[in-house]
Amino acid sequence: MSHAEARQFKIQGKSGETIVQEEIAAGALPPEVGVIRLYGTPVPTMNIVNATQVNKLNGTKSEDLTKAEITCRKQAFQVLDVVRRHLAGYEKAYISGMPAVIGVRETRRFEGVARLKKADCNAGRRRDDAIVHSANFCIDIHNPAGAGQAAQQQTYVTGEAERVKPYDIPYGALIPKEVDGLLLSGRCISASHEALASCRVMRTAMATGIGAGAAAAYAVQNNIELRDVPPQKLKLLE
Ligand SMILES: Cc1cc2nc3c(=O)[nH]c(=O)nc-3n(C[C@H](O)[C@H](O)[C@H](O)COP(=O)(O)OP(=O)(O)OC[C@H]3O[C@@H](n4cnc5c(N)ncnc54)[C@H](O)[C@@H]3O)c2cc1C
Repeated sequence: MSHAEARQFKIQGKSGETIVQEEIAAGALPPEVGVIRLYGTPVPTMNIVNATQVNKLNGTKSEDLTKAEITCRKQAFQVLDVVRRHLAGYEKAYISGMPAVIGVRETRRFEGVARLKKADCNAGRRRDDAIVHSANFCIDIHNPAGAGQAAQQQTYVTGEAERVKPYDIPYGALIPKEVDGLLLSGRCISASHEALASCRVMRTAMATGIGAGAAAAYAVQNNIELRDVPPQKLKLLE
Protein backbone atom coordinates (compact mmCIF):
# COMPACT_ATOMS: atom_id res chain seq x y z
CA MET A 1 0.00 0.00 0.00
CA SER A 2 1.44 3.41 -0.89
CA HIS A 3 1.42 6.36 1.51
CA ALA A 4 -1.28 7.97 -0.64
CA GLU A 5 -3.50 4.89 -0.40
CA ALA A 6 -2.89 4.65 3.33
CA ARG A 7 -4.11 8.22 3.74
CA GLN A 8 -7.26 7.53 1.76
CA PHE A 9 -8.46 4.93 4.25
CA LYS A 10 -12.06 5.82 5.20
CA ILE A 11 -13.95 4.94 8.37
CA GLN A 12 -17.68 5.62 8.57
CA GLY A 13 -17.45 8.11 5.73
CA LYS A 14 -14.58 10.03 7.33
CA SER A 15 -11.02 9.94 6.10
CA GLY A 16 -8.36 8.65 8.48
CA GLU A 17 -6.84 12.15 8.46
CA THR A 18 -10.12 13.71 9.65
CA ILE A 19 -10.37 11.22 12.48
CA VAL A 20 -6.78 11.91 13.51
CA GLN A 21 -7.44 15.67 13.45
CA GLU A 22 -10.55 15.21 15.62
CA GLU A 23 -8.59 13.09 18.09
CA ILE A 24 -5.84 15.72 18.22
CA ALA A 25 -8.46 18.42 18.91
CA ALA A 26 -9.91 16.22 21.67
CA GLY A 27 -6.45 15.79 23.23
CA ALA A 28 -6.29 12.04 22.62
CA LEU A 29 -3.35 12.37 20.22
CA PRO A 30 -0.44 14.84 20.15
CA PRO A 31 -0.36 17.20 17.11
CA GLU A 32 2.85 15.58 15.80
CA VAL A 33 0.86 12.47 14.90
CA GLY A 34 -0.63 13.91 11.71
CA VAL A 35 -1.54 10.60 10.13
CA ILE A 36 -1.82 6.97 11.21
CA ARG A 37 -0.68 4.62 8.48
CA LEU A 38 -1.40 0.90 8.71
CA TYR A 39 0.54 -1.32 6.35
CA GLY A 40 -0.16 -4.97 5.64
CA THR A 41 2.39 -7.64 6.53
CA PRO A 42 2.81 -11.30 5.50
CA VAL A 43 0.87 -12.13 8.70
CA PRO A 44 -2.81 -11.44 7.86
CA THR A 45 -3.71 -10.33 11.39
CA MET A 46 -0.75 -8.01 11.79
CA ASN A 47 -0.12 -4.45 10.63
CA ILE A 48 2.95 -2.29 10.73
CA VAL A 49 1.95 1.12 12.07
CA ASN A 50 3.69 4.32 11.00
CA ALA A 51 2.44 7.21 13.13
CA THR A 52 4.61 8.37 16.01
CA GLN A 53 6.80 11.42 15.70
CA VAL A 54 8.76 13.84 17.85
CA ASN A 55 10.27 17.16 16.73
CA LYS A 56 12.97 19.63 17.72
CA LEU A 57 15.31 17.10 19.30
CA ASN A 58 18.92 16.43 18.36
CA GLY A 59 19.65 12.87 17.29
CA THR A 60 23.33 13.24 18.22
CA LYS A 61 22.54 13.83 21.93
CA SER A 62 21.82 10.86 24.14
CA GLU A 63 19.52 12.91 26.43
CA ASP A 64 17.39 13.89 23.42
CA LEU A 65 17.31 10.31 22.14
CA THR A 66 16.04 9.18 25.54
CA LYS A 67 13.36 11.89 25.53
CA ALA A 68 12.33 10.91 22.00
CA GLU A 69 12.15 7.25 22.83
CA ILE A 70 9.97 7.80 25.92
CA THR A 71 7.68 10.21 24.03
CA CYS A 72 7.20 7.93 21.03
CA ARG A 73 6.56 4.82 23.11
CA LYS A 74 3.81 6.76 24.92
CA GLN A 75 2.42 7.96 21.59
CA ALA A 76 2.26 4.36 20.37
CA PHE A 77 -0.28 3.54 23.08
CA GLN A 78 -2.31 6.67 22.26
CA VAL A 79 -2.36 5.56 18.62
CA LEU A 80 -3.44 2.07 19.68
CA ASP A 81 -6.33 3.58 21.63
CA VAL A 82 -7.52 5.56 18.58
CA VAL A 83 -7.22 2.54 16.29
CA ARG A 84 -9.19 0.39 18.73
CA ARG A 85 -11.99 2.95 18.96
CA HIS A 86 -12.33 3.70 15.26
CA LEU A 87 -11.42 0.65 13.22
CA ALA A 88 -13.90 -2.21 13.01
CA GLY A 89 -12.16 -5.48 13.84
CA TYR A 90 -9.38 -3.72 15.71
CA GLU A 91 -11.26 -3.39 19.03
CA LYS A 92 -8.90 -5.85 20.71
CA ALA A 93 -5.79 -4.89 18.78
CA TYR A 94 -2.56 -4.88 20.75
CA ILE A 95 1.05 -3.92 20.23
CA SER A 96 3.10 -7.03 19.59
CA GLY A 97 6.38 -5.27 19.06
CA MET A 98 8.10 -1.91 18.82
CA PRO A 99 11.50 -1.00 17.35
CA ALA A 100 14.37 -1.61 19.76
CA VAL A 101 15.55 1.99 19.44
CA ILE A 102 14.14 5.28 18.22
CA GLY A 103 14.66 5.97 14.49
CA VAL A 104 16.32 9.23 13.45
CA ARG A 105 15.95 10.49 9.89
CA GLU A 106 18.94 12.80 9.78
CA THR A 107 21.85 13.92 11.91
CA ARG A 108 25.48 14.60 10.98
CA ARG A 109 27.22 12.82 8.14
CA PHE A 110 30.56 12.72 6.39
CA GLU A 111 31.92 15.12 3.85
CA GLY A 112 32.97 12.95 0.96
CA VAL A 113 35.17 13.26 -2.08
CA ALA A 114 31.90 13.91 -3.98
CA ARG A 115 28.57 15.15 -2.67
CA LEU A 116 25.12 14.26 -3.94
CA LYS A 117 23.04 17.39 -4.41
CA LYS A 118 19.36 18.13 -4.87
CA ALA A 119 19.98 19.31 -8.46
CA ASP A 120 21.43 15.84 -9.25
CA CYS A 121 18.20 14.23 -7.99
CA ASN A 122 15.90 16.69 -9.76
CA ALA A 123 17.75 16.36 -13.07
CA GLY A 124 18.15 12.58 -12.86
CA ARG A 125 21.92 13.00 -13.27
CA ARG A 126 23.70 9.94 -14.67
CA ARG A 127 27.39 9.46 -14.00
CA ASP A 128 30.19 7.21 -15.21
CA ASP A 129 31.51 7.03 -11.62
CA ALA A 130 28.20 5.68 -10.27
CA ILE A 131 28.18 3.31 -7.30
CA VAL A 132 24.35 3.23 -7.27
CA HIS A 133 22.34 3.39 -10.47
CA SER A 134 18.82 4.80 -10.81
CA ALA A 135 18.06 5.77 -7.23
CA ASN A 136 14.50 7.08 -7.18
CA PHE A 137 12.53 8.52 -4.29
CA CYS A 138 10.92 11.89 -3.68
CA ILE A 139 12.63 14.67 -1.67
CA ASP A 140 10.99 13.51 1.54
CA ILE A 141 11.67 16.34 3.99
CA HIS A 142 9.53 16.06 7.07
CA ASN A 143 8.25 19.09 8.91
CA PRO A 144 10.77 19.81 11.69
CA ALA A 145 8.12 21.64 13.72
CA GLY A 146 5.12 19.33 13.55
CA ALA A 147 3.33 16.74 11.46
CA GLY A 148 3.61 16.31 7.70
CA GLN A 149 6.11 17.52 5.11
CA ALA A 150 8.23 20.63 5.35
CA ALA A 151 6.10 23.29 3.68
CA GLN A 152 8.58 24.47 1.06
CA GLN A 153 8.95 20.96 -0.32
CA GLN A 154 5.27 20.35 -0.77
CA THR A 155 3.34 20.76 -3.97
CA TYR A 156 0.08 21.81 -2.43
CA VAL A 157 -2.03 20.53 -5.34
CA THR A 158 -1.28 16.88 -4.61
CA GLY A 159 0.06 17.12 -1.07
CA GLU A 160 2.96 14.93 -2.17
CA ALA A 161 6.66 15.62 -1.73
CA GLU A 162 8.78 16.85 -4.65
CA ARG A 163 9.48 14.14 -7.22
CA VAL A 164 12.90 13.35 -8.68
CA LYS A 165 14.10 11.56 -11.81
CA PRO A 166 16.10 8.33 -11.37
CA TYR A 167 19.64 9.49 -10.56
CA ASP A 168 23.05 7.92 -9.93
CA ILE A 169 25.09 8.23 -6.74
CA PRO A 170 28.81 8.82 -7.33
CA TYR A 171 31.32 6.49 -5.68
CA GLY A 172 32.98 9.61 -4.21
CA ALA A 173 29.91 10.14 -1.98
CA LEU A 174 30.95 6.94 -0.16
CA ILE A 175 34.59 8.01 0.30
CA PRO A 176 35.36 10.28 3.28
CA LYS A 177 37.45 13.26 2.20
CA GLU A 178 40.06 12.78 4.90
CA VAL A 179 39.83 9.27 6.35
CA ASP A 180 41.46 6.28 4.67
CA GLY A 181 40.34 2.68 5.01
CA LEU A 182 36.68 3.62 5.52
CA LEU A 183 33.68 3.57 3.19
CA LEU A 184 30.30 5.15 3.92
CA SER A 185 26.92 3.68 3.19
CA GLY A 186 23.26 4.29 3.97
CA ARG A 187 22.30 7.43 5.78
CA CYS A 188 25.81 8.76 6.39
CA ILE A 189 26.96 9.14 2.78
CA SER A 190 28.00 12.58 1.57
CA ALA A 191 24.82 14.34 0.47
CA SER A 192 23.14 17.69 0.97
CA HIS A 193 20.18 17.94 3.34
CA GLU A 194 17.72 17.83 0.43
CA ALA A 195 19.49 15.05 -1.48
CA LEU A 196 19.70 12.95 1.69
CA ALA A 197 15.93 13.33 2.03
CA SER A 198 15.69 11.25 -1.15
CA CYS A 199 18.67 8.87 -0.93
CA ARG A 200 18.29 7.82 2.73
CA VAL A 201 15.38 5.47 1.96
CA MET A 202 15.94 1.80 2.60
CA ARG A 203 16.32 0.48 -0.94
CA THR A 204 18.85 3.18 -1.86
CA ALA A 205 20.62 2.77 1.49
CA MET A 206 20.90 -0.96 0.79
CA ALA A 207 22.26 -0.28 -2.71
CA THR A 208 25.01 1.93 -1.23
CA GLY A 209 25.87 -0.94 1.14
CA ILE A 210 26.11 -3.37 -1.76
CA GLY A 211 28.30 -0.89 -3.64
CA ALA A 212 30.55 -0.32 -0.61
CA GLY A 213 30.93 -4.08 -0.15
CA ALA A 214 31.82 -4.63 -3.80
CA ALA A 215 34.33 -1.77 -3.70
CA ALA A 216 35.93 -3.10 -0.51
CA ALA A 217 36.32 -6.56 -2.06
CA TYR A 218 37.87 -5.06 -5.20
CA ALA A 219 40.32 -3.00 -3.10
CA VAL A 220 41.42 -6.08 -1.14
CA GLN A 221 41.73 -8.27 -4.25
CA ASN A 222 43.80 -5.65 -6.05
CA ASN A 223 45.71 -4.42 -3.01
CA ILE A 224 44.74 -0.77 -3.54
CA GLU A 225 43.26 2.00 -1.39
CA LEU A 226 39.47 2.22 -1.25
CA ARG A 227 39.61 5.69 -2.80
CA ASP A 228 41.48 4.28 -5.82
CA VAL A 229 38.82 1.69 -6.73
CA PRO A 230 37.46 2.36 -10.24
CA PRO A 231 33.66 2.05 -9.82
CA GLN A 232 33.34 1.28 -13.54
CA LYS A 233 35.05 -2.07 -12.87
CA LEU A 234 32.46 -3.16 -10.31
CA LYS A 235 29.47 -5.24 -11.37
CA LEU A 236 26.53 -3.25 -10.02
CA LEU A 237 22.82 -3.58 -10.65
CA GLU A 238 21.57 -1.18 -13.33
C1 LIG B 1 10.76 7.21 11.53
C2 LIG B 1 11.40 6.82 10.21
C3 LIG B 1 10.61 6.38 9.19
C4 LIG B 1 11.17 5.98 7.99
N1 LIG B 1 10.37 5.51 7.01
C5 LIG B 1 10.92 5.00 5.91
C6 LIG B 1 10.11 4.37 4.92
O1 LIG B 1 8.88 4.29 5.06
N2 LIG B 1 10.70 3.86 3.83
C7 LIG B 1 12.06 3.90 3.66
O2 LIG B 1 12.56 3.37 2.66
N3 LIG B 1 12.86 4.51 4.55
C8 LIG B 1 12.32 5.05 5.68
N4 LIG B 1 13.12 5.66 6.61
C9 LIG B 1 14.54 5.84 6.31
C10 LIG B 1 15.37 4.58 6.45
O3 LIG B 1 14.75 3.67 7.34
C11 LIG B 1 16.79 4.91 6.98
O4 LIG B 1 17.30 6.09 6.40
C12 LIG B 1 17.70 3.73 6.65
O5 LIG B 1 17.23 2.59 7.34
C13 LIG B 1 19.11 4.05 7.02
O6 LIG B 1 19.87 2.88 6.85
P1 LIG B 1 21.31 2.79 7.48
O7 LIG B 1 21.81 1.43 7.14
O8 LIG B 1 22.12 3.98 7.08
O9 LIG B 1 21.10 2.95 9.05
P2 LIG B 1 20.31 2.01 10.05
O10 LIG B 1 19.18 1.29 9.37
O11 LIG B 1 20.02 2.89 11.22
O12 LIG B 1 21.38 0.90 10.43
C14 LIG B 1 22.48 1.19 11.24
C15 LIG B 1 22.72 -0.03 12.09
O13 LIG B 1 23.95 0.11 12.77
C16 LIG B 1 23.79 -0.35 14.09
N5 LIG B 1 24.83 0.28 14.90
C17 LIG B 1 24.92 1.55 15.33
N6 LIG B 1 26.03 1.73 16.02
C18 LIG B 1 26.68 0.55 16.03
C19 LIG B 1 27.92 0.10 16.60
N7 LIG B 1 28.69 0.91 17.27
N8 LIG B 1 28.28 -1.18 16.39
C20 LIG B 1 27.49 -2.02 15.66
N9 LIG B 1 26.31 -1.65 15.11
C21 LIG B 1 25.93 -0.39 15.30
C22 LIG B 1 22.39 0.10 14.46
O14 LIG B 1 21.89 -0.64 15.55
C23 LIG B 1 21.64 -0.19 13.16
O15 LIG B 1 21.15 -1.50 13.11
C24 LIG B 1 12.58 6.06 7.82
C25 LIG B 1 13.39 6.50 8.86
C26 LIG B 1 12.80 6.89 10.05
C27 LIG B 1 13.69 7.31 11.18
